[in-house]
Amino acid sequence: MDLISILPDSVANQIAAGEVVDRPAGAVKEMLENSLDAGATQIDLVVKDAGRTLIQVIDNGSGMSDSDARLCFERHATSKIHRADDLFAIQTMGFRGEALASIAAIAQVEMRTRQPENDLGTEVRIEGSTIVDQHPTACKQGTSISVKNLFFNVPARRNFLKKDSVELGHIEEVFRRITLIHHDVGFSLNSNGKMLYNLPAGSLMARIAGLYGDVYKERLYAVDEETDIVKIHGFVSKPEYSRKTRGEQYIFVNGRFIKHPALSTAVERAYTDLLPERCYPSYFIGLSVDPAKIDINIHPTKTEVKFVDEHALFAILRSAVKRALGQFSLATELSFDTPNEFNIGPAPKDYRPQQPRTHYNPDYNPFHARATQSQIKFDSLYGTPERETPTMFEEQTGKDVTVSSAPIFSTGTCMQVQGRYIVTSLSSGLAVIDQCRAHERILFDRMCKNTSESSDRQTLMFPIQCQFSPADAELIAELLPELKRYGFEISPMGQCTFVVSATPSGMEDSQLQSLLDQLLCDYKGSTMQKYSRRDDSLCASLARQLSVKEGVQLSQSEMQQLVADLFACPMAEMSPSGKRIITIVKPEELLK
Ligand code: ADP
Ligand code: MG
Repeated sequence: MDLISILPDSVANQIAAGEVVDRPAGAVKEMLENSLDAGATQIDLVVKDAGRTLIQVIDNGSGMSDSDARLCFERHATSKIHRADDLFAIQTMGFRGEALASIAAIAQVEMRTRQPENDLGTEVRIEGSTIVDQHPTACKQGTSISVKNLFFNVPARRNFLKKDSVELGHIEEVFRRITLIHHDVGFSLNSNGKMLYNLPAGSLMARIAGLYGDVYKERLYAVDEETDIVKIHGFVSKPEYSRKTRGEQYIFVNGRFIKHPALSTAVERAYTDLLPERCYPSYFIGLSVDPAKIDINIHPTKTEVKFVDEHALFAILRSAVKRALGQFSLATELSFDTPNEFNIGPAPKDYRPQQPRTHYNPDYNPFHARATQSQIKFDSLYGTPERETPTMFEEQTGKDVTVSSAPIFSTGTCMQVQGRYIVTSLSSGLAVIDQCRAHERILFDRMCKNTSESSDRQTLMFPIQCQFSPADAELIAELLPELKRYGFEISPMGQCTFVVSATPSGMEDSQLQSLLDQLLCDYKGSTMQKYSRRDDSLCASLARQLSVKEGVQLSQSEMQQLVADLFACPMAEMSPSGKRIITIVKPEELLK
């Protein structure tokens, strides 16, 4: 009995689509790359509902002829290679001729395209691999492709999509990876009718600033190096602007974003001794190497690459970054090329200058000021001792019940070990308590509960300006009511700038920007997806960032307070991020 049949194209395309387009961001990547391959100098991306309902890419590139406009949706339809030999000299981002066929198999696609030599363009509509319409149309030179209702015929995939904020996050990441290195092309990203980024063609530095905010201009050092093996151009963060997560770390090889652990290590090694532990630099580095000396594993969704001269490359990159860090930190920072931020230009005719305003706190009285720094720290870290009966969530009744047994600790003498652990004796044995996690738990519980306008805030004598990327600015604006409940007083000032006039008490002013950056990073990041409520994810990030750190010496009374506060928490044994806080060494184990 014969069992084998050839799959129809529509089915084969749907299967291929699973590899190329696993989520909206996959389609975005393919379409942006096609526009680049078509030589576009301006590319506009429009998404609705994080790409679920619409992904539209409009470019001013070469356009397509009437028949190419149909053919491009066939599998293995490509204008980029014609014979096997071409594979070794690829200059384009794509070449497999699979992307559009895959996208058309799982969405409703409308395309308008016109080549410069034609007066009229063509419009094609295709749905689940079937062309349903084509007719001539008047349109701009270039190509506009609208992908609607992605996965409309693949419910399993559709159901696998994460919530919009996550999918949009993936789209933004694809957008950054492409726009950073193609800074000589103008791009924009519009989401649900809002312009998130509008990036004119310009230098790499201008592109970084456009994506992450103008503050980055002061945070980075340039890295430039040219050898026989490689040409390097990019920017690395000044050590003082390192972050606690590996955030903005981008390496590109010959115009493509790549992941290459050894090259990342090379950059990080250059920072040896310059960064606090578990802090990571940001970097945006482009490498150009002879294409014959690399093997990009050009699977459409992979980002790996192999180099012939890997060792040499590693050494060159590390020393180039090292030199950038050393050279600039010693030299006075004077720049002689006039950046355009000083070209303020003439004021409009009817412009009336405004009286400068000073911000001050009318309630400030230096004689009532909080006494010494150490006292401030102590109060704010541990708060007023809060004595309350611990409660526990009872599963059967679904209620919080009072824990009837007496508190399990007596405030014995505490000892701090290795700047991190508090050791104290309980009736059940010797407790070893992680001070960082314990404090994180205490702050988390207090923040989750204490949502009224509270004493836990400090008004700043000098309000501080913070700057964000356009996308982050939008997010911050959305989170303002929550942040207010945790003691922040933040108001918008212009599109990407915010003024902070109050913060949770105990926070250093100098931490503010990085704390908020980290908060947004956590909030967007996958680590926070386990928190079902957004309040919880914000509390968790704040608690982690504001908690006492490893290596901080605690006094006897501080330790006792910390232990007492910890045991007043219903979930004293586990930190909000699920790590163990207390280990008990039982008497019988002590005996051994
Ligand atoms: P590949 O990029 O691997 O060739 P795709 O399926 O992405 O395969 O695209 C198929 C073909 O359609 C391309 O080779 C190109 O000729 C054409 N094409 C796709 N997008 C555009 C565009 N934006 N402008 C001009 N031509 C395009
Ligand atoms: Mg392509």
